[in-house]
Amino acid sequence: MTEQKIPSRTEEDLKQIAKCLWAKQIFCDRDIRKEERDNMIGSIFMPIMLGGLNKEVVKELGLIFEYYDKSAPRSINGYPIFFSCQLLNIEDAKKMFDYAVKIENAMKIAPDVNSTMCIWCEKKYTYTDEEKEKTPWIEKFCQEKCSIEFQAFRNRKKR
Ligand SMILES: [Zn+2]
Repeated sequence: MTEQKIPSRTEEDLKQIAKCLWAKQIFCDRDIRKEERDNMIGSIFMPIMLGGLNKEVVKELGLIFEYYDKSAPRSINGYPIFFSCQLLNIEDAKKMFDYAVKIENAMKIAPDVNSTMCIWCEKKYTYTDEEKEKTPWIEKFCQEKCSIEFQAFRNRKKR
């Protein structure tokens, strides 16, 4: 049995990563234009340039990502720069993107701007008339509690 270089995440973790990705709080290697990916990856995710990926890791690698709020105050070619990054193995990356697609589809079920899905509790959420006049479909939480819990979850991840 070979040792796993990129440990598997829990289902709950993968689901949360998918949510953060969908909420555009995460930058991942897929966000780099395909033709630039190989050249740019090390300049965007600094640990990669500094030799963070050996052959064994690359074999298992499914996704490189990091939270936008961990980005450096500089950018390169319009991309953020990170001094840290997180990895998902191939199997986890697939699961995570499956979750992301589910979230995306859940949003499509409600094409009218009258409702959305709360990104935290996943309840369908119908806007009040007052909210509709403000910035409707940008809101991703059905209540403030959900927003707070979502941020708390993210902060836990950063430690
Ligand atoms: Zn909610």
